[in-house]
Amino acid sequence: MEQDTLQHKGMRKRLVETLIQKGISKPQVLDAIGKIPRHLFMESSFIKFAYKDNAFPIGAGQTISQPFTVAFQTQLLNPGNGDKILEIGTGSGYQAAVLLEMGAQVFTIERQQELYIKVQQLLPQIGYFPRFFFGDGYKGLPTYGPFDGILVTAGAPYVPDDLKQQLKIGGRLVIPLTQGDSQIMTVITRSGENDFEMHEHGRFSFVPLLKGTQ
Ligand code: SAH
Repeated sequence: MEQDTLQHKGMRKRLVETLIQKGISKPQVLDAIGKIPRHLFMESSFIKFAYKDNAFPIGAGQTISQPFTVAFQTQLLNPGNGDKILEIGTGSGYQAAVLLEMGAQVFTIERQQELYIKVQQLLPQIGYFPRFFFGDGYKGLPTYGPFDGILVTAGAPYVPDDLKQQLKIGGRLVIPLTQGDSQIMTVITRSGENDFEMHEHGRFSFVPLLKGTQ
């Protein structure tokens, strides 16, 4: 496995400065991004771009999200130490590492077998231990809920009711909702058993949340 060198650390510091300039302010999010060796999550041909603020291919037609997007979604989710968080779309595992670095207990679901297998080798090797699940994230994880927070990392055509029902009262669902050819970052807060509040936070670009497994 590649090393984490002083040069990588320097590039990460500059990435964190870029994120601050773009409006990310939560210290725990910036600290996590400053610590995690993002280059280890990428295909070897893209390693030199690992600390640019861009999304990149990770195989199986999927991408590792842009660092700004990861930081923005994490800031909206605002996980506290020990919070139970469900992530839909494990992908490279980078977002899960950010949540773990912030002290959350992470449950993560992936529908693409190739990525599901790959990430289970990588994350434990570099010291991150979420609970991995293979399946269709539209359904969430009913037997493990309710969750303090649910983070969807692919563009959804609508808000899956199963995910809303797996939130604790006071819990938050961060979900990019597809409208036209991009997504509107949406936060849904469960304010009561049957009460949900919805807030929108600007446009982003995600790969689609697909049904079933592959
Ligand atoms: N969080 C990832 C982002 C990966 S891109 C990271 O940090 O790298 C989104 C991921 O969602 C892809 O890996 C894709 O396969 C997965 N995905 C899409 N639809 C899904 C579904 N219904 N259930 C679970 N995962 C899904």
